[in-house]
Amino acid sequence: LFGGKGLVIFPSLLTKILMAGIMFQDITTLLLDPKAFKDTIDLFVERYKGKNISVVAGHDGMEVRRECGFWPWVGDGTSVGISDARALGVEARGFIFGPPIALAIGAKFVPLRKPKKLPGKVISQEYILEYGRDCLEMHVGAVEAGERALVVDDLIATGGTLCAAMDLLERVGAEVVECACVIELPELKGRERLNGKPLYVLVEYY
Ligand code: IMP
Repeated sequence: LFGGKGLVIFPSLLTKILMAGIMFQDITTLLLDPKAFKDTIDLFVERYKGKNISVVAGHDGMEVRRECGFWPWVGDGTSVGISDARALGVEARGFIFGPPIALAIGAKFVPLRKPKKLPGKVISQEYILEYGRDCLEMHVGAVEAGERALVVDDLIATGGTLCAAMDLLERVGAEVVECACVIELPELKGRERLNGKPLYVLVEYY
């Protein structure tokens, strides 16, 4: 499953949890197995070490999918309302994978966060979702023009979050080398939304 490495640690370590009618792909079960977690980080490190990457930007998990009631894996066909959806928000899974990768490849880690979470002066990027808007923020000065950046998250669904992250980095003049996620949900076609920017994933879930 893992980039041809023959590490058969996934599907048993990734869990599907039905939350309010949405099938949620949970990576926290992977974190309970130190070897599997380390192997996961090592795969990314192997790919990005020595690539002159100076920034690894990770971001908060978004509630995009949970704000829509039509996804194919909606268990019982129930439409999920916005208020239910908000209650399911889980933060910061990009922050679980980004920092260990950054340390191992000698890059800095830059958190991209939801509004009003960062204490300093920020640059913001709003983006349109299927139902509404959202926003990501980054500290001014955290990334400089010309830096080569990697965007890390746990999962790509519709691709909206990664697009906003790339927009932020490119606005300050950084070059986004690649986006890296543990899981891709190909049926949501998020990859197509990345305007040709390379995306590296370890697992595809259908
Ligand atoms: P996108 O913007 O639609 O690609 O959604 C990706 C973002 O939503 C990432 O930050 C994920 O952490 C989060 N997300 C969406 N669905 C799931 C899921 O099933 N499991 C874990 N995270 C998810």
